[in-house]
Amino acid sequence: MTNLFLTPRLKPILEQIRQFMKEEVLPLEANFLHDWKGTAQILEAKRDKIRALGLWGLHLPKDLGGMGLTLCEFGQLSEVLAESPLGHYAFHAQAPDIGNTELLHHFGSDYQHKTFLHPLAEGKIRSCFAMTEPEFAGSNPVNLATTAVLEGDEYVINGHKWYTSSADGASFAIVMAVTNPENAPHQRASMIVVPTDTKGFSIVRNISVMGEAGEGWLSHAEVRFENCRVPKENLIGEAGKGFALAQHRLGPGRIHHCMRWVGISERALDMMIRYALKRELNKGETLANQQVIQHWIAESRANINAARLMVLDTARKIDEQGAPATRNEISAIKFFVPKIMLDVVDKALQVHGGLGMSDDTVLAFWYRHERASRIYDGADEVHKTALAKHILKGYM
Ligand SMILES: Cc1cc2nc3c(=O)[nH]c(=O)nc-3n(C[C@H](O)[C@H](O)[C@H](O)COP(=O)(O)OP(=O)(O)OC[C@H]3O[C@@H](n4cnc5c(N)ncnc54)[C@H](O)[C@@H]3O)c2cc1C
Repeated sequence: MTNLFLTPRLKPILEQIRQFMKEEVLPLEANFLHDWKGTAQILEAKRDKIRALGLWGLHLPKDLGGMGLTLCEFGQLSEVLAESPLGHYAFHAQAPDIGNTELLHHFGSDYQHKTFLHPLAEGKIRSCFAMTEPEFAGSNPVNLATTAVLEGDEYVINGHKWYTSSADGASFAIVMAVTNPENAPHQRASMIVVPTDTKGFSIVRNISVMGEAGEGWLSHAEVRFENCRVPKENLIGEAGKGFALAQHRLGPGRIHHCMRWVGISERALDMMIRYALKRELNKGETLANQQVIQHWIAESRANINAARLMVLDTARKIDEQGAPATRNEISAIKFFVPKIMLDVVDKALQVHGGLGMSDDTVLAFWYRHERASRIYDGADEVHKTALAKHILKGYM
């Protein structure tokens, strides 16, 4: 398929990234599937290589030492990084740090840039984002019990969060808390930076997800804030503007996930094809001779091509018109791409039979971890309803 989105400056970077992934990152996968901690240490050394090659900051603007690529250009790189679960982490373009970086870059104060953003962009620290609470439906996030009360020059924060991804080992959390209870629902909450060594911040546990509690970056924590005191300078933007900031954070955040899912789909299809060609049912007769598997390959190819075009077209619209004007396209890809990705991963796993169920390939990892794609950053149903309402409005 002709790549209509490939810019001249992107071409050589794309080649370099492909080569780096093939030679330096993909070989670590077998190790990673059994030992995350050890692999994370090896990845630190890879980051030095990435810096030396001038490939640091694929997602960052120039003033943060990055390449200043458009979202549409980064999307094409992101797809290549996603061919391994380690790609984004190696290049420090992983969620939730990527979203927090963008948020602080656009809305943080000079103090917040110096104290939190710069070390984050340099890859010296990690961060997390604490919005969802176990007691309330995350799909209607205006219902929050976490409070931040201004006492003198400090906010005192109390609350209970869960699914605070990557909190284990993070240096700070961006927490969503009610600061203005008297306001209208969408103007009650604010985002505040809480360093994780603040007294009163605690990780209750890493939640076991599909049988794995994980650790470090690869984990999702239940977190408590008990009389956590932080300087009022840690408030991002204005008090009561938390939901407006969340929209800015989640718009590009959703597209980052979609770009990653296209890459996962592409790798899963590649694995499906290679295995189908090599696995013999009888001498000289492979799985690839079976029509049902040929159809899976063809359907997957068509679906991935469609998903990629939709994602890059959405990225281009965000580049040209901003995330708020691209709301409908973002909603469409947020439920469309996971469906395709999960279908391709499922088919690839099926073709691998018992091997697919084992942790000897990356497929079972994706099967477990990427199921959540239909839930976080807005469940499928929420995005479908939002898009349908907009379409229906056009007929009224
Ligand atoms: C792996 C993972 C990582 C996450 N990381 C983070 C993080 O880093 N920080 C953070 O703050 N949160 C995070 N979350 C939380 C996530 O954002 C919430 O799970 C999500 O918003 C859904 O909220 P809920 O779980 O409370 O489900 P609910 O809101 O209770 O919804 C349950 C189900 O109801 C259905 N539903 C909801 N609304 C509607 C509707 N309007 N119409 C029809 N059906 C509907 C959907 O199928 C939905 O899945 C993460 C979640 C997961 C699973």
